[in-house]
Amino acid sequence: MGMTDCLFCKIVAGDVPATVVADAEEVLAFRDIDPKAPQHILVIPKRHYDTAFDMARDDPRLAGELLREAGEIAVAQEFADAGYRLLFNTGPDSGQEVMHAHLHILAGRPLGPMLTEPQE
Ligand code: AMP
Ligand code: ZN
Repeated sequence: MGMTDCLFCKIVAGDVPATVVADAEEVLAFRDIDPKAPQHILVIPKRHYDTAFDMARDDPRLAGELLREAGEIAVAQEFADAGYRLLFNTGPDSGQEVMHAHLHILAGRPLGPMLTEPQE
């Protein structure tokens, strides 16, 4: 998929609306449109990479920036102490639907064990 038809590149460009939580030089965070928890935020590199590994391999510092931004958001949104889950889906078996690397932040309720079974 090229950048021109990538949904998250369109959000970065401002061509698709999103509820932005943090807007840094190289990283954007916005609320997931179909939240799976009371707090569900996506943290993405503004530069397009298909997967988290593509990003980390090309620019490990940028991958670290996503983790730092996620932690800063957890503090700012006041769920850092209660706790949260960070998740990268990668490839078909994970259910990755948007092929622009994105870090899920899930918080706001006890999240239970890691999901390993198909969800209905
Ligand atoms: P994944 O399954 O890991 O690829 O996650 C993609 C996520 O993007 C899902 O949780 C979707 O709900 C979310 N999503 C899809 N379209 C939008 C959008 N326009 N704005 C915000 N989140 C979106
Ligand atoms: Zn993209």
